[in-house]
Amino acid sequence: MLTSEMIKQAALEAGADACGIGPISRFEGAPPEMDPRRLFPGVKSIIGFVFRIPRGVQRGIEEGTQFYQYPSMAYGGINEIYAPAVLYHVGKVIEDAGYEAFIYRNTGARGVVSDMDGSPGNTLSPEEQIEVSQHAKGKTAHHRSVQFTREVGDGKSPPDLQFQFRLAAVACGLGEIGWSKMLLTPEFGPLQRVAFIFTDAELEYDEMYNGEPLCRKCGACVRECPGGCIPPINSDKKITVNLAGKICEWADIDMWRCYAFYTHGGRYFNPFVPKEVFDKNENGMLDLLEGVTDEANEKEVMKVYTALEKYFPSWVGYNMAKCGGCIRGCVSMLEKKGGCMEGRFKEPLRKGNKTWKMER
Ligand code: SF4
Ligand code: SF4
Repeated sequence: MLTSEMIKQAALEAGADACGIGPISRFEGAPPEMDPRRLFPGVKSIIGFVFRIPRGVQRGIEEGTQFYQYPSMAYGGINEIYAPAVLYHVGKVIEDAGYEAFIYRNTGARGVVSDMDGSPGNTLSPEEQIEVSQHAKGKTAHHRSVQFTREVGDGKSPPDLQFQFRLAAVACGLGEIGWSKMLLTPEFGPLQRVAFIFTDAELEYDEMYNGEPLCRKCGACVRECPGGCIPPINSDKKITVNLAGKICEWADIDMWRCYAFYTHGGRYFNPFVPKEVFDKNENGMLDLLEGVTDEANEKEVMKVYTALEKYFPSWVGYNMAKCGGCIRGCVSMLEKKGGCMEGRFKEPLRKGNKTWKMER
């Protein structure tokens, strides 16, 4: 007989760092286009897997010495290699017991609504620039949603059905969503990525996290965001979701603004772009990064990408994230001021109080 214990043991043996299981009924009330109960009839359980991001992957950005490891290992490596291998292994355990394992690896930008702002239809992505990139000529244009998808029959949602990963992790009892919108877990704070399996097996379920709040509402993420993308703590610019009775709340982050800053950092936080490029701001391409406009949208972000992509060209299939300010601020605070990261490392991520900022 298949048990939750068997699944969790298989997950940890295969390389997951944590595993939690929840009933699919916890998604009651989810919008139809993002409701995993619609993935297949008879789905009963969701199994969530946590894959830790080694703190050292952020070290190079923390020091301003190495930026490639974070996007390539913490995005590409986990999403493309480690997590799929674990899903595959655990899926076999489930199917050997006669149940189906609907594997759902981390994937972005292929739902019926944009994973940036929830809007339906033709939402462009900065990755549209792949079209003009010398490094990926001939690749299909990439969008934040699939554009012309239609449901295949009555009662179906248009493919591909994407759900909110972080809320799904909460539904599996793995953690909570912090003010920064990052998933926080008791084991790894904000340092992880997640993946899921849906199954028709009925299992023993974990309660949703109900310990000390994992987010301290300290505001480090707000202060350390180079783009000012995260509204202040206690701002009424927030998102509130009732997940099967658990109130989840996070800042209503300006996601397009974050898109520009987390990949390109801006004048003070991107050592790859010469100062003169920011000074010149040719054709207003850097208006968003330079604060000439407050309007963050796909058009402004694509201007930034067009102007700056060539300065850091080694794509790994993912945006070349250079920021991580909210993650590092959060880790540092949770280590120093008490919280789920306290005492995990012999030395803190950050010795002083401040991170670097270029003078220019
Ligand atoms: S990833 Fe960077 S730009 Fe985006 S919210 Fe976090 S700190 Fe701000
Ligand atoms: S930095 Fe502080 S406020 Fe922001 S998510 Fe982490 S604990 Fe919460």
